[in-house]
Amino acid sequence: MATYSFQAARELVVREMLTHRQPETETVRLAEAGDRVLAEAARADRDYPPADRSIRDGFAVRAEDLPASLRVIGEVRAGGVFAGRVGQGQCVEIMTGAPMPEGADAVVMVEHTSRDGETMTTARTPQAGEFVNRRGSEARAGDVVVPMGELLTFSRIAQLATCGITQVRVYRKPRVAVLSTGDEVIPIESKPEANQVRNSNGWALARQIQAAGGTPTILPVAPDEMEASERLISLGLEHDLLLLSGGVSAGKYDYVEPALATFGAEFLFDRVLIQPGQPLVFGFAHQGGRRVPFFGLPGNPASTMVCFQIFARAAVQLLAGRAEAPLPMPLLRLTQPFRHKTGLTRFLPARVNEGATEITPIAWQGSSDVPALARANAFLVADSERAEYAAGDSIGAILLEG
Ligand code: AMP
Ligand code: MG
Repeated sequence: MATYSFQAARELVVREMLTHRQPETETVRLAEAGDRVLAEAARADRDYPPADRSIRDGFAVRAEDLPASLRVIGEVRAGGVFAGRVGQGQCVEIMTGAPMPEGADAVVMVEHTSRDGETMTTARTPQAGEFVNRRGSEARAGDVVVPMGELLTFSRIAQLATCGITQVRVYRKPRVAVLSTGDEVIPIESKPEANQVRNSNGWALARQIQAAGGTPTILPVAPDEMEASERLISLGLEHDLLLLSGGVSAGKYDYVEPALATFGAEFLFDRVLIQPGQPLVFGFAHQGGRRVPFFGLPGNPASTMVCFQIFARAAVQLLAGRAEAPLPMPLLRLTQPFRHKTGLTRFLPARVNEGATEITPIAWQGSSDVPALARANAFLVADSERAEYAAGDSIGAILLEG
């Protein structure tokens, strides 16, 4: 089976998910639309601004009259209208957001004027249009102001609100099943023996799924045997995406791949040149006439988290209707030297400083070290072809906060 580099594997996942997905839509109220993905382009209901409008407090003037002393023939405030017309040698006191009076074509800021009774004096020589937002300069009626596929962030919510859109067509959130495997894995409510671990992966994944725009369901833990694995995988395949944790290594009791094979699984890869997470599996299984994508994530907590963040997250985002699933990796300054063995792209827990300019690897005991992962606010990304980094060198980072 195919082995891929980190980049090639990610491209494959994105390509496959874009072809596969057929996201359904639903209508929600604007108050519930935050962090959902817009399913139909939002258009401007009128010109923005709807009239020429002042963007300063000051005086609406005819630019050609200045510099001069002008007669103040009235005022116009936001929400008001000036009924008359500004003629030669005249001006109108105007507030930010107020419509421009007829005849005026520029605004002089109040700070640049002096006033004596009905007379305003300024030494300014504005261009026509200065401090005026022209009708339709931001958007024309009918223009797309938020394209479909965009995540509804606060500024896009503001745009919808501006256009009076109270009901929004969004994509239905994908339902994502989480199936942890392992005889040693027990529910988190239970008290583990020394040879057992609590199902932390189920909880990490559920949170990661939510953050990516999906609705998680944590299934019961599958023991390391064929029949139970098949039964639980069958439940998982009733969802839009199945994430399995554990059971994908070469161990004698790793049943995930054979169990998936009984569902006609197409395995698109089962190894990626990354660490942690090398035995990562991705493909599609079949049940009841449906073709359902799955990821078999290696069970070590760091492997599961990293593989979700760099691969499965994109799948959830695309199922959720996002037009793209980018993975930003800003280059930050290493605070200390770093070396690793080439051949694998490594993702290691790290701390990024408050300004997100510097990155420091966190000492850890390997992929099972949850305390180290909990201290991290980023993963450092070490290039598969570069062994040595000096302090001060740039290195990639995946930020986990902010
Ligand atoms: P596996 O990929 O099944 O070989 O599991 C690798 C390691 O990850 C094992 O030592 C497990 O104890 C640990 N592990 C597996 N599944 C989980 C889980 N759901 N939560 C926490 N740790 C796990
Ligand atoms: Mg296992």
